[in-house]
Amino acid sequence: MTVFKRGKRIPKDTLKVLSRLPKPSIDKDAIRHKKLLVLDIDQTLLDVTSPRLDVNDPETFLRPGVLQFLQNMSTIYDIGFWSLSTQKFVDEKLQMLDLDRLGVHPVFAIGRMHTIQFKFASKTHAYDFLAKPLQYISMLTSYNQKDILHIDDNGLCTLLSGNNVVLVRPWYIAEDSDMGMYFGFGHSVGRDDRDLEYLGQYLTKIRGSADYTKVLHTNWMRDKPIPWTGPPRLVRIVPVRKADMVAEKAAA
Ligand SMILES: [Mg+2]
Repeated sequence: MTVFKRGKRIPKDTLKVLSRLPKPSIDKDAIRHKKLLVLDIDQTLLDVTSPRLDVNDPETFLRPGVLQFLQNMSTIYDIGFWSLSTQKFVDEKLQMLDLDRLGVHPVFAIGRMHTIQFKFASKTHAYDFLAKPLQYISMLTSYNQKDILHIDDNGLCTLLSGNNVVLVRPWYIAEDSDMGMYFGFGHSVGRDDRDLEYLGQYLTKIRGSADYTKVLHTNWMRDKPIPWTGPPRLVRIVPVRKADMVAEKAAA
């Protein structure tokens, strides 16, 4: 467990922790472009939590526009998938996207085993989350971090990815999903969602950017005709108990 203080966005020992993670398989033949999109899966591209899920009916699990989005993006970006699911579920969910049929060949598709657990605490709140630091991807591949974008619905797991993050609203098919508070944008629900269509337009517009770390991608939705739900919000904030803080200090 790595414990770090609020404000110290990328702890010094991140690289050391990352180098100890298992090495995933990288498909070098799938590297065709200079730039890479690292895509989250759940609630970014699809949702498998609906009780009405029917694997034979894509409408019950695919985010609107996802197939077109993947197909279009794969012509200008390389694609990698990075999920908090176990590898087995990553593979199953990618099968639901039928990537071969789309002509999308991911450079990698990795899950929970390739994330790191982070804890940090302010005076009033504690955070405990799995992170996907983009440094890990530039360590494993030939992509420079300035050419990588991290697309996710969960702001917490992107906290160590610097400026290279483009957040989308978490998408649910179930209309009664109770998200509660969320770290990221407020959620988008149902078949009317068009975020991926607009995200595709945005990513196409910035495809020529020389350095994604120099551009802030926090307000990309502002230009789009979708309800603006305000800046990313905090979520799953656990009030800190004094005993926990002491225990954490001792563990560190
Ligand atoms: Mg997600």
